[in-house]
This record gives sequence, structure tokens and C-alpha cells, in this order.
Amino acid sequence: MSALKALKGVGDKTLSALHEEALFSCEDLVLRWPKRYEIRRLFDEEVLPPETYVYMALTATSDVKTAYVRSKLQVLTFNAVGDNETKWRIKVYNQTFLRRIVKKDVALVALVKQTGNQTLTAMRVWLKKSFHEGIVPVYGLKKLTDHQFTKLLKQCLPMIQRRQDPLPEHLIQKYRLLDFKTVMKWAHEPPDDAALKQVKRRLKYQELFEYQMRVRWQRHTHRQQQGSIKSLDHAKLNQVISALPFSLTESQNQTLKEIFNDLASPRVMHRLLQGDTGSGKTVVAFIAMAAVMASGQQVAFMAPTELLARQHYDTLSELATSAGFKLTLLSGNTPQSVRKTIIERLANGSLHGVIGTHALFSKDVLYDDLGLVITDEQHRFGVAQRQALQKKGQRPDVLYLSATPIPRTLGMTLFGDMDISTLSSRPSQSEAVKTKLVSMRDRPIVRQAIQKALKAGEQIYVVAPLIDDAEDQSQKGVITLYDTLCTRYQEAKIGLVHGRLLADDKAETLEAFRRGAIDILVATSVIEVGIHAPLASLMIVYHAERFGYAQLHQLRGRVGRGDTQGLCLLLHPQDEAAVKRLDVMTQVQDGFVLSEYDFKQRGFGDLVGLMQSGHLRFQHADHIEDFNIMQCALEDAKNIVEAYQKHGAHQELIERTKNQLLRYAKH
Ligand code: ADP
Ligand code: MG
Repeated sequence: MSALKALKGVGDKTLSALHEEALFSCEDLVLRWPKRYEIRRLFDEEVLPPETYVYMALTATSDVKTAYVRSKLQVLTFNAVGDNETKWRIKVYNQTFLRRIVKKDVALVALVKQTGNQTLTAMRVWLKKSFHEGIVPVYGLKKLTDHQFTKLLKQCLPMIQRRQDPLPEHLIQKYRLLDFKTVMKWAHEPPDDAALKQVKRRLKYQELFEYQMRVRWQRHTHRQQQGSIKSLDHAKLNQVISALPFSLTESQNQTLKEIFNDLASPRVMHRLLQGDTGSGKTVVAFIAMAAVMASGQQVAFMAPTELLARQHYDTLSELATSAGFKLTLLSGNTPQSVRKTIIERLANGSLHGVIGTHALFSKDVLYDDLGLVITDEQHRFGVAQRQALQKKGQRPDVLYLSATPIPRTLGMTLFGDMDISTLSSRPSQSEAVKTKLVSMRDRPIVRQAIQKALKAGEQIYVVAPLIDDAEDQSQKGVITLYDTLCTRYQEAKIGLVHGRLLADDKAETLEAFRRGAIDILVATSVIEVGIHAPLASLMIVYHAERFGYAQLHQLRGRVGRGDTQGLCLLLHPQDEAAVKRLDVMTQVQDGFVLSEYDFKQRGFGDLVGLMQSGHLRFQHADHIEDFNIMQCALEDAKNIVEAYQKHGAHQELIERTKNQLLRYAKH
């Protein structure tokens, strides 16, 4: 029986609500830290701040009147005076129960914002006697109010005083952190601002430390994994490389050297290859594949979408065939009969490699001898999926490709479990995309550019942040843009892609654009990653000021990939700050430099997506604001794992870290 059942006020209903929140014991309750804190302090100044809610003491001078605006919208109004005798008319929406509470001469506290000369709009109203000033934790549970939860918590707190501190003593000393007993108490009942600050500092550090412990432990286990040693056939590889229509850049050669070292070593490779779109990652991946295929083992290359898988296959199959390798494509759309043959040939080793979507790790797909797994845009796959594919071989080497340039320092702290290779520049032949800022008033420039591209038979992207027009009409959405373009350019074939369309329809339009069957593709930023249309030369971004640098850089990387010079027009409002910010795009062509700018300005587009995936989600810490703490935590975790390796210190911490990793792998 659950220990929680013994608490006062816990019946079957509450118990199941607790279980739904994964709360099974008193300890679980105490360790459920508040999501945030509300600072409730009565407002006592003369002038109300604009557009801000404040807690105000009021005395009602009338009962409540109710007006029905429309169904489901009622406005309650009453009169009141403030402590300084100011007379107010108070408006509240929909909280009909207040009719029972608010009566003439009753003392109240209301959370209000001034919305008229003598009008306040209240978000909440309390009887003065049941309002508590101070710092109030907010838990935000789905089926329990904060009030209910706190009542249970009060019973639990005295019961778990003896829980062991998850942080080692020496680190608590080093940073003068609160001890665990105090955190548990103060987090739920902070006595004052200073205490709350201490609580937050400790919880942030603890969270980042635990994260870094997982990363360092993962790295440690990776380094211990023994896999197969690939014997590299350098003569064959030179042949493959010289058959390419270009010579490799220095950065590509350097990266290949790192990869070859990994392949030839008994240690399992976990390498992240990052580089801008168009920096030549796919080619590097192909040569790594060739190295493994020539050594007699198989390769699986996994892409996040059908379209990207097909695109990779189209690029690589010819190269592979001419080098004598048998490569195939396997996806969710592969017909059953073909799929059956592919599975047979993968299992008996007559196929050297396969490119595909997550279909590559379906249960019935078995490999004869899988030596290398490559995953494109690694952050779009969950940890569990990657592990599933890795389990298909005898610990194959793994190469992750990512087009999201991550600042070096951040990369080290976030991906400390992997080695990182970076392609630093675009291959010299392809010229940088020309980037121009265009004010929304200069629309003729846009029209000319479109006409010019259409006439030359080149393709065009038109990107905007929103699907529908903004409610206040300040921004046009892609649907409106699409309609406008269709009317204006009746001779052109125009496609529309956004997040609300069905995946199949979206894929079909993207594929048509890639084939050249569509001239203009109107889209939200869904086209950011991966699509490669060699005939596209013009990228037009509406409301460019809404995008981060890295995101804009990804977008412009979509054009000028063939022989044509790419042009990117960034449309912006008449706004000095926006122009100043965007001007960086015209000066800087290096994705890593841009992502550093984003990192500093918190503009982050792509990295946000990255942070939200997998285990990179922090509740207390902020990966930018608390970056210094993150770096301390990294050093501390590193030292602890090293001490464990050398003389078995910190056993308990390591055990706890392993358990955490197991738990994450299950999700
Ligand atoms: P990524 O995968 O990083 O986006 P790709 O591998 O698709 O980049 O390369 C982009 C384009 O550059 C391709 O058309 C590719 O053939 C070409 N390319 C790659 N490496 C070189 C090189 N060393 N010299 C010239 N062109 C190259
Ligand atoms: Mg690519």
C-alpha cells in the first residue's frame, strides 16, 4: 500500500491524482520542487505601474453586479476604495463565485491592473483575512491545486529529514550551498527573498551537476566500450576520394583523419560531425561509409524524414555503385515485397549499406555485421531510437551529423559524451550567398528579384514566421502570402508548406520543389533543415527580425547550392533596432560566429529545439544565464569520474548517476 494513503486528506481520488503525477511517496512530494514562485506583496505606492498586475488592499463599497456579455463571458463589477481612499470600479471576468464573497464593507485583496481612469481589472480576488503576503510556491500540478498539494506536503516534510544529500560534501562547502535538509524546507516554505535566492542557487547547481555527471559517465562508458577494429583499405579509399568531382577541403581531410583514427581503434566511436549546411558533411559521411564497407562491415545511414533519406540516397547511390558497393533505400514507404528482399540481403550480408528513416531499426531488420551507424540531424532522434539502432550490431561506431552550428564552449558542455569534429568552411568553389536587407516599403525590389529568378528558370523560397495573419494585422502569414503570389504570378507554379498540413502533403510538395516541378515554395521555417533543391537561387524571408541568426543562416544556406549565385533578401519593418541586428547577417557568413551571437543575445532559434529534445531539459537552470555554473559543474563532475576511475571514490554518486541514465534511456 502506498505510504501516501496514510496522510490526512488522501482518499482514492487524491491518491490516483498523485500517482498520475508520478508521486508515490512522501519523499517524491518533497522532491517535487515548485515550478516557480509568486511574490505576493501589497502595493503601497501612489501611482500604479502601467500594464502590470499588483496586489492591492481594497474595501468593497458595493455588492457585485453581473453583466452577461455573451455566453461564457460574464463581467462582474463592484465599487471599492483603496487604502489611500482612492475610489475604484473593479471589473472581474467570469468568477461568479465572487458574488457570494464580495459584499459592501468587506476587506479584500485583489490582483489588479489599471485598465481605465478609475477602473481596475482584477485577475483574482481574496478575502483579506485569507490572503497571505510573502513568497508563495507554485507547483502547477494537473489534478491537484497548489493549496491541496501544500497541505499534504506539510505532513510529509517532517517525515523525511534524514534523506541523504545528493551533492557531495566537498562541493557544498566549495560553493557554500545550502545543505539538503534546509533546501527541502525552504524550497517549499521560503522565509524571505534571501532564502529563496539560496534555494534557487542550490537547485540550479544540483541540476547542472547531475546533468554533467550523466554526461561524464556516459563519456566514460563510451570510452570503455570495445568494438570492432576496422582495417582500413587506404588504396581503395584513395580511389574513392579521387573519383569525386572535386578535391576535399582541408577541413574535410582533417575530419576524415579523426574518423579513420576512431574506426581503426578498438574503442567505439561516438563522434558528432557539425558544420553549416553545404559545408560538405554528406561527402565526409560517404567516405566514412566507404571505409567501413571496404573493411567488410555494413553501414546504416539514418535520416529523420523520408525526403531527407531519399535525398541522401540519390546523392550517394551513384558514388557507391561506381565504387562497387551495394547500397539501398529503406523507409516506411518501401513496398512490402521489396522490403522483404532488402531485409534478407541485409541479414545475409549481400548488401553493404542501407539509407533510410527509423524503419532501419524495426524489430525485423537484422544486420549481418553492422559496423557503422550514421544519423543525420541527430537531435531529431530520441536517445532510445539511437540506442535501438546501435544494438543491431556488435557495438557499431556511431557518427552523428548536425547542421546546427553550436558554439564550441556550449558544445563541450552539452555534448561532453561525444567527440566533436567541425567542418569550418564551405568548399571554396561555392560562393557565399549574397544577403541584402530590404525594408517592407521597398517591395519593388522583391518583385524584381522574383521576376528575374523566374525568367532564368531558377527557384524561389518565400519564408514567413506565421501561418495565419497576426491578429493585429501587423504580420502576414504564409497562407496570405501564398494567395497574393498566386494572383500576381499566374504563370508560375507555387507550392505552400506549413506545420498544419498533413505530413504526406507536406512531403509531396517539398519533393515536387526538389524535382523542380514547383517554382516558388512558400513556407514557414519547416524547410530549415535539409532540403536540397539545386535550382533554388532566391530566398525571401518576411519578418526576418523574428528569426535568430542561426536560423536565418540555415535558411539562406538553402539557396545557391547548384551553379547559380544565391541571393537572400531579409525583409524587415522600418525599425532601427531590427536593421542594426539584421545587418550582422550581411557581414558575417560563418554559421559558428552567428550562433555565438545568438548565444549571447539569447536569440537561439535552432538551439532551442535542440535543448527541448532528449535529456537536455532543465527545470531550474538556464543554459545561457547559468552558463558559468554549468562550466563549474562540468569540472566538478569530471574530477569525480576521474577519482572514481583512479581509486574507486564516490561509489554512491556513480550508482545514482547510472540509475538516472537508465531512467532516461527508458523515456
Ligand atoms: P552538407 O551535407 O554539409 O549540407 P553537402 O555534403 O551536401 O553539405 O555538400 C554541399 C555541396 O557541396 C554538394 O553539392 C557537394 O557535392 C559539394 N561539395 C562537398 N565537398 C566539396 C568540396 N570539397 N569541393 C567542392 N564541392 C564540394
Ligand atoms: Mg547534408
